[in-house]
Amino acid sequence: MSSLVEICDNAMAADGPLAMGLPGYAPRSGQRGMARAVADAIERRSQLLVEAGTGTGKTFAYLVPALMSGRRVVVSTGTRNLQDQLFARDLPALTRAMGAPADVALLKGRGNYLCLHRMQLALEDPAGLTRAGLRELARVRSWAETTRTGDVAEATGIPEDSIVWPRVTSTTDNCLGSACPQWQDCHVVRARREALRADVIVVNHHLLMADLALKEEGFGELLPAADVVIVDEAHQLADVATRFFGTSVSSRQLSQLLGDLRAEGLLAGAWDEGLARDTGSVEKALARTRETMGRDTGRRAWPAPGGNVEQAIETLIDELVVLAGRMTALDGLSPGVDGVASRVAQSVERLTRLSGKADPDQVRWIEIWPRSFTLQCAPVDAGPALAARRDERPSAWIFTSATLAVGGDFSLVQARLGLEDADLLSVDSPFDYPRRSRLFVPSGLPEPAARDYTQRALGAMLPLLEASGGGAFFLFTSHRALREAADWFRAGAAAGGYTLLVQGDEPKDILLRRFRDAPRAVLLGTGSFWEGVDVRGPALRLVVIDRLPFAVPDDPILEARLDRSRENGGNPFREIQLPEAALALKQGAGRLMRDVEDQGVVAICDPRIVGKSYGRVFLSALSPMPLERDAQAVAGFLAEAQAREMAS
Ligand code: SF4
Repeated sequence: MSSLVEICDNAMAADGPLAMGLPGYAPRSGQRGMARAVADAIERRSQLLVEAGTGTGKTFAYLVPALMSGRRVVVSTGTRNLQDQLFARDLPALTRAMGAPADVALLKGRGNYLCLHRMQLALEDPAGLTRAGLRELARVRSWAETTRTGDVAEATGIPEDSIVWPRVTSTTDNCLGSACPQWQDCHVVRARREALRADVIVVNHHLLMADLALKEEGFGELLPAADVVIVDEAHQLADVATRFFGTSVSSRQLSQLLGDLRAEGLLAGAWDEGLARDTGSVEKALARTRETMGRDTGRRAWPAPGGNVEQAIETLIDELVVLAGRMTALDGLSPGVDGVASRVAQSVERLTRLSGKADPDQVRWIEIWPRSFTLQCAPVDAGPALAARRDERPSAWIFTSATLAVGGDFSLVQARLGLEDADLLSVDSPFDYPRRSRLFVPSGLPEPAARDYTQRALGAMLPLLEASGGGAFFLFTSHRALREAADWFRAGAAAGGYTLLVQGDEPKDILLRRFRDAPRAVLLGTGSFWEGVDVRGPALRLVVIDRLPFAVPDDPILEARLDRSRENGGNPFREIQLPEAALALKQGAGRLMRDVEDQGVVAICDPRIVGKSYGRVFLSALSPMPLERDAQAVAGFLAEAQAREMAS
């Protein structure tokens, strides 16, 4: 009998079913190598970490062995786009081509499904809904009568950010579970049952982690049912995991709880003066706590012991305890009231845990918004918790992404995901970087701390922009630099009739569509434009990066990780900040070459990449683009590339 490795090798051969059945499929050695490694990991039920350079065809490299294994598979992705692409395009095409029918399910988080119980509550007690909200609630009600799936994406005509959605969808907190009178017809339950019957379930990291951590949206059944778990875009998993292994309580959550208490109380005929008084006291304590946090919004360190904020949190807990006490008298009145009572008790428990004695393995902080706040804690290092949960079951775990290693070194990602013992594989991109691309670092620019840095960096890019005739992404590390650049372009500093597209002016999808269509487009972006943006073909020929993307250590988790490294005698800059920045740079630079025919220039304005000793680490992380320092030479390269493109 053939092994899974051989079966996959044959499927991906030049005369195999993929080549025969998939239009445009061409065997690629890197892809077959990765498929072999994945097949081997599935057979041995081991853990594999694969960095697959752009163009490897990694999706097929893991889907083919997964499908041919005949085992139950969970595929997790970081973005909705990839989730949809796998479900609607790649998996159907592959199963057809290979003649291997498989039952595939796409499972979304519970917030994507209508909650029949909460819709009933909202109809019963629509307090707080605006006129538009009431109209939308009526629409939800009539849609609810016809939908089979309860997937809110079907309910067109109701805006995604409508205030009605949180009122008619559930969270783990407010779901009544099997005690719910609507349990038999529940859309969330049905979607999960269907998913669990499938051979392949496509989920997102959020759902995967919730399941793994047995928290929030998780229902703890997904992973026990899986023989193979494949995590694509695995570079995003550590941050998601960290949040899931932590605890949080938000003032919005508590306000919603008080609203649900009123609605459930009214529905059960138990809403009385006493309940109204005690919920009112909790509301006041919430408002008082927010007040003590002051006007400044953003992230803040955990409050000092004995201060106003801490005292306000204590009062909030006391008021919740009083409310929980009153609710014991209503025990067994209705599943809804019982559900709310257990949420009140849970909130007391979480708040007490959060505000208790500091745990050295956890970091605590507060997030403040204009009218609300969240109290949070998370593990400094989620790797051990992830490893422990994974080891509970002997499944095969495959993690992949185009960005996992710095110069072949996986140690940062291994530590963050608890994958110290995993097998490692790097698959180089098949693209011809030496011939089709250049890395440009301009000469004569000051370090980014200089006051006029952004303007001077932009000025240095003008010859390139002229040579490329637009088709340029400018990626910034801060919103401030982005705004400065937008002003610079709008003031006409770059004459040339460019179509300027600025992040924030329009939704990302629209900006990208306009970028592809406009002949001389220049797009300015930060944050989410550094990754997951896929502009293939000649529309994108120049990627400019303003500075090396070192994270500013205002993130409490990052700060705690740096402290931990220092305390352990390590070098936090070398061990954490530098490799993380190098991975981020690799992501940003990776926007340029998305297809084998793509060509162009990545320009990194920050002189530290060549002037500092650590610059070598960044250079080692990048694809093998020849380094060029002369603006005229690189402009010539761009002009030639343009000419080749026009001639072809
Ligand atoms: S079981 Fe939960 S999600 Fe389903 S209808 Fe009831 S409350 Fe809503």
